[in-house]
Amino acid sequence: MKIGFIGLGIMGKPMVRNLIKGGYQVAVHDITAASVAEAVAGGAVAGGSSLKTAAQSDVIITMLPDGPDVDAAVLGAGGILEGARPGSIIADMSSINPTVSQKIAAACAAKDVGFLDAPVSGGEPKAIDGTLTIMVGGDQDTFDKVLPVLQKMGSSVTLTGPVGAGNVTKLANQIMVACNIAAMGEALVLATKAGLDPEVVFNAVKGGLAGSTVLNAKAPMVIGRNFKPGFRIELHEKDLRNALLAGESMKVSLPLTSLVQQMLISLMNEGKGGLDHSAIVTFIERMAGTEVKPPVK
Ligand code: NAD
Repeated sequence: MKIGFIGLGIMGKPMVRNLIKGGYQVAVHDITAASVAEAVAGGAVAGGSSLKTAAQSDVIITMLPDGPDVDAAVLGAGGILEGARPGSIIADMSSINPTVSQKIAAACAAKDVGFLDAPVSGGEPKAIDGTLTIMVGGDQDTFDKVLPVLQKMGSSVTLTGPVGAGNVTKLANQIMVACNIAAMGEALVLATKAGLDPEVVFNAVKGGLAGSTVLNAKAPMVIGRNFKPGFRIELHEKDLRNALLAGESMKVSLPLTSLVQQMLISLMNEGKGGLDHSAIVTFIERMAGTEVKPPVK
């Protein structure tokens, strides 16, 4: 089975490395030539374009920023669907609006091309380790065919429902992560302004009910003032926007999601869109006039 992989960013690059390590032949494409060169140096083949990459692949994976990017790469002129062979399968692993997944899946079905939406959680560290959590939408037969490929990149791969369900699950994930980071930020700012060492507070609570994967990953970054992404603020804003759009279409109120999205927009206006999403804490710090860091001894 030959794999095509389009989108060699923070996530795509290590995912390609794990597919190659798993024994697959991988043709790659990205609009950034340097990223293609880096993947080729790691054992991939240069696909040439989205169309040509698709034409030589049985499974075509996309890992792009947002829905409009996936729409353009798959359905646009010279795109994946123009090159894809009947019987091949497109697995979009980007986090996008579920309605865009459904639109693309319908266009693929008309050309006898299978489609899965298969967004991931776990960020760059788990993309590197090949231990991503992968949430899939699609039919069982298509899922079964692509499962061995997905298992080279993730340690948990779950079929959550029909096309679109993967991205609904991912939106639910992103709501929980964003609100968790914001709550952690408020908690650590309060503790720091009260004169406590935030590291001591983190260590005191992490084994209790407030402990979480988010806390373990993000509190050390905040305390160490390391906001190198990771997962960028502008991508998380995109996810919350998609969650609010989905909520609006189903008449579901998402007040906490809306509040954190406003924080993210404000941070983007401050020029912080490229920072890791742990930098949500800096919004809360600004309101409190306090930075989360160990007290000066
Ligand atoms: P990124 O911006 O680092 O990478 C995207 C890549 O796509 C870039 O290399 C860009 O040049 C390329 N690209 C854009 N349009 C293209 C096109 N038309 N044709 C070919 N290449 C194109 O983003 P990322 O952090 O790797 O995230 C990718 C997706 O995964 C996003 O939807 C994001 O929300 C999701 N995600 C990211 C993380 C994370 O921690 N970074 C975690 C989970 C999910």
